[in-house]
Amino acid sequence: MEKQPVLELKNVSVGYDSPAGMVQAVNDVSLTIYENSIVGLIGESGSGKSTLGNAIIHLLKNNAVLTNGTIKVMGKDVYGMGKEELRKFRWSQMSMVFQSAMNALNPVLTIEAQFLDVFLSHHKNMSKKEARAKAIELMEIVSIDPTHLKSYPHELSGGMRQRVVIAIAIALDPKLVIMDEPTTALDVVVQRSILDKIKEIQKVKKFSILFISHDFSLVSELAQQVAIMYAGRFVEITDSESLSQLDKHHPYTQGLINAIPQLTADEVTIEGIPGNPPDLVELPSGCAYHPRCPFANERCETELPVISKVEDRSIECHLYDKEREEVFKS
Ligand code: ATP
Ligand code: SF4
Repeated sequence: MEKQPVLELKNVSVGYDSPAGMVQAVNDVSLTIYENSIVGLIGESGSGKSTLGNAIIHLLKNNAVLTNGTIKVMGKDVYGMGKEELRKFRWSQMSMVFQSAMNALNPVLTIEAQFLDVFLSHHKNMSKKEARAKAIELMEIVSIDPTHLKSYPHELSGGMRQRVVIAIAIALDPKLVIMDEPTTALDVVVQRSILDKIKEIQKVKKFSILFISHDFSLVSELAQQVAIMYAGRFVEITDSESLSQLDKHHPYTQGLINAIPQLTADEVTIEGIPGNPPDLVELPSGCAYHPRCPFANERCETELPVISKVEDRSIECHLYDKEREEVFKS
């Protein structure tokens, strides 16, 4: 049976109005995520990942605007809905675990009250008793003793709060969950247990995840497919299995892979990508990566590369133009 698309992004651009000019945070990105799959979204800080996540669930900051493209979730245009329809659609069909979400719980409400709020605001006919039973079930799913429903957020550890946030995000069985750096603020051991929990729940509930991170090893372990973002563009979309073959990838992807800490016998070495991400108000001409790219040539400075299909990968780089021609010839 053919897999159904859960998220369809077509030529999506998002800008922020700022005193310096329009910040082009997301620039012409297209991607389809199918049912029951995990897709990673990776890139350095400031590359536009959170902006895209916020745009998908239509919760952009006040000075941000979708300047181009369409975003469909479960076949519905997210920007073509009325306020009330969108309110019902959000959390029931698509939800998001925000960055530092564990601090986003309401400090003056018990965990139970926060669950009930989600259930009762979406299911007008649900009784409090049913909502409580659902809350208990969700606490068990994320491996927290349901007695903690009576706790306030500050009475739980960071890892527990983060698991509560994940439980709330999946409470209404959405088909798409965007997770924006869901484990970043936690120590390594807690991170690992939360990642394992996410994998376990996803396997059972079969929703799709867009997993935003700047940690390549984490994303490649979790996701089947990875979109690599640079200066607001998807410079590559690849299956995660091929990531071990370094030379098959976009120069920026190669740079990110090289930046993964290498554990040697007595030291940890990290080779970051030289240079800094560009100013998104005044993007460099041609390929925005050219000032940092070790393979850049004159053409890269003037001409924006087109997307080439190389095997199962989409790569936006002039180096792959030739391969693309060969692919098209054969
Ligand atoms: P990080 O990994 O640090 O969260 P990111 O890849 O998620 O980064 P975004 O937070 O989406 O990146 O930011 C993309 C760009 O938009 C950055 O250059 C950022 O400075 C800019 N930006 C974000 N919010 C605003 C805002 N409210 N007004 C103007 N520019 C903004
Ligand atoms: Fe580097 Fe040129 Fe490819 Fe851009 S188009 S990534 S500058 S080789």
